[in-house]
Order: sequence, then structure tokens, then C-alpha cells
Amino acid sequence: MSQKGFFPWELEWPVDQAGYELEHWPAMEGSSLLGSSPPTDFIRAQGGPPRYYWPMQQHPCLYRQFAEICSSADGVLAFASRFGMSSVQQDFRKANGQREEVSAVLNTAELIRQICARVDVGNKPEAAGLWAEHAMPLVMVAISENESRTGFEEVLVPIDLRSALLLQTKDTIIRDQRVRRCRNEDCTEYFRVGQGAATERREFCSLRCRVASTRRQKKRNAATAAEHQLHREL
Ligand SMILES: [Zn+2]
Repeated sequence: MSQKGFFPWELEWPVDQAGYELEHWPAMEGSSLLGSSPPTDFIRAQGGPPRYYWPMQQHPCLYRQFAEICSSADGVLAFASRFGMSSVQQDFRKANGQREEVSAVLNTAELIRQICARVDVGNKPEAAGLWAEHAMPLVMVAISENESRTGFEEVLVPIDLRSALLLQTKDTIIRDQRVRRCRNEDCTEYFRVGQGAATERREFCSLRCRVASTRRQKKRNAATAAEHQLHREL
């Protein structure tokens, strides 16, 4: 049994603390029994000690960040360094370092971007159609006490980060949720607003971001004031 923290039935996902790197594999002719393989880009874990987090509970809007950040190989690398790879290919588990094909990550991100674009303009039927046709998350089913503690309910437990992101994307279609991006320009977090979530007026994902943004604004104001002063003196 693995050691589980706050959410015994939930996906706990590793991030390699030594980081990740991009790896290019050239085309190989007749390299295996299955024939030749085309050139492929991978993202590879360096194999340091992992730290774990709970994507579904700690980052319920992670699918938005993923879609925003993973639009290039460098984006895939940047995302992995914070949230780990989206899934690990079985064949590579025992080989040196864990790998994932960059194109697989880009495809998932593109799907989520297209679904979000439709949800954001209120076109849920098309969003649902795209999800049904292409998402295919891998999940286990668990049982948990319901919120009012009056009985039990089923819980879908994603088996990897890709599946978790796709379940979050499903929720944005079947629930009435609105999502907002943090106004701190250095931050890529999203959060929910509206019923059962943050108030309509909320602009930042965290106190830290609010403080950082206020500080930057003050600095800008001070710089502008100094410039005006200089112009007056000249
Ligand atoms: Zn933020």
C-alpha cells in the first residue's frame, strides 16, 4: 500500500524534483520487429526524488492552465516541471527515466482548448460532442461518503494526470461553473467563481498574487510619477 495523505481515494501525482528534459529520437529504419519508427520528441523525467500533490483537489482548474501552457514543446516542459507529466508510457516504466511523447500532450491540450472555447461562448452541445468523441479518460470507480454524510456516492478516480484534466474538463461542461484567470500577470492559475466557489469580485487566485500585483502597480505608479517629475524639471 502506498502512503496516502488527505484524500485516500484520490489521484496522487508525482513531480520529479530533479526536473524534466526534451529528448529527440531520430527516425529508425527497421529498428524493431514492428518495423521502422518515425522521428519522435519525448519529455523525460530526470529520475530525482518525486514530490506528490492532488491535482483534483488542489488545482480544480488545472485543465485551463494545461491548455494555456502546453501549446509548444517548451510549454509542455514548463508545465511538467510544475505539475509532472500527463501520463507515463507503460513500455518505459522500467527503462532509464520515464518518458511521454510530446505530441500526445499537445493533442490533449488542443482538445481541451477547443472544448473550453466552446464552453466559454455557451456552446455546450458541441463541447460535449468533442469530449465524447476524443477525451477517453482512464478512471477507476471508488465509493465515498456524500457531502451531507447521509449516505454514499460513487467517485470517479482518474488513473493519471491526463485523465484528471479530462474529468475536470467534463465538469466544466456538465456543471454550471465559471472560471477566471488570476489577474497577477506572472501567474497562470485559474479559479472558479459563482455559486459554491469564489465571489464574483475575486480577481486573484491567492493572497500572494494580490500582494504581488499591488506591489507591481505601486512601482509602476512611482515610476510614472518620477518620469513626470523629470519632464517638469527639464
Ligand atoms: Zn495567481
